[in-house]
Amino acid sequence: MAGAQAAEVYHVVLDIDWSISSIVEDASRAKDNWQWIQVNNETYRAGDHLGKLIKKLVDDPTVKVSFFSGGDRARNVELLKKIKPPELEGKSLYDIAYKVLSKEELKEIHSNAKSWASRYLKDLKLVSPDLKNVILVDDARGFIANNHGKGIWLGKTYKFYETYDEVIAARKLGNTSYLPPSYDAWFADRHRLARVDSILDASLAEAKEKKGAFANLVTQHSNENPKKWLQKGLSSMDSSKDCLSKILGVSFKKP
Ligand SMILES: [Mg+2]
Repeated sequence: MAGAQAAEVYHVVLDIDWSISSIVEDASRAKDNWQWIQVNNETYRAGDHLGKLIKKLVDDPTVKVSFFSGGDRARNVELLKKIKPPELEGKSLYDIAYKVLSKEELKEIHSNAKSWASRYLKDLKLVSPDLKNVILVDDARGFIANNHGKGIWLGKTYKFYETYDEVIAARKLGNTSYLPPSYDAWFADRHRLARVDSILDASLAEAKEKKGAFANLVTQHSNENPKKWLQKGLSSMDSSKDCLSKILGVSFKKP
């Protein structure tokens, strides 16, 4: 139609490791459900709420979902092909992805940087040149910082523990690396994708109402109180504490 403006397309780019999935060193902890995956003798656990988050995004015709991980391409592709949340009805994350970008596409921009992530750029222009409508979700602060802070930094992420009792047990054994320092830290990490869901939900609605550019709205909300967005995300996803207990595999009660 002459003069009609093309509809905006919003791009969500998700990091993989410690963002949508975690490596679990002890393979014997794996359970028989879609969240547990083996790739190259490594055991991975897909994050809680991942299926619901992705399903909502792919059902929105204005949204495209991509993945950008510092892992190598072959690993990324195999892992994404094996993550099949029930919400996607047989499809994998690879099937629904717009683009899958990998270590091979990282650009070195600060060769002397101390941290690995600060050294490289995940160039979002590789997903879309329209940077006001592209955001990155990442656990590595450097990758967010190198994109001018645009996107959602997941906050500190930790090794995966099914229950907080396991955290306490690990602490007693002296296993302190990437161990959640408190119940709240463990809980926020475990449910980090619920926070992502509520931030994206609100930002997409506001962008469509022309309240601002998508990338700016997401960045603004990701810098607000994370607990507010976590709570919002959990209440929209889980209508009852029963459901929450099911996700946690334990009764929902603060020790
Ligand atoms: Mg990561």
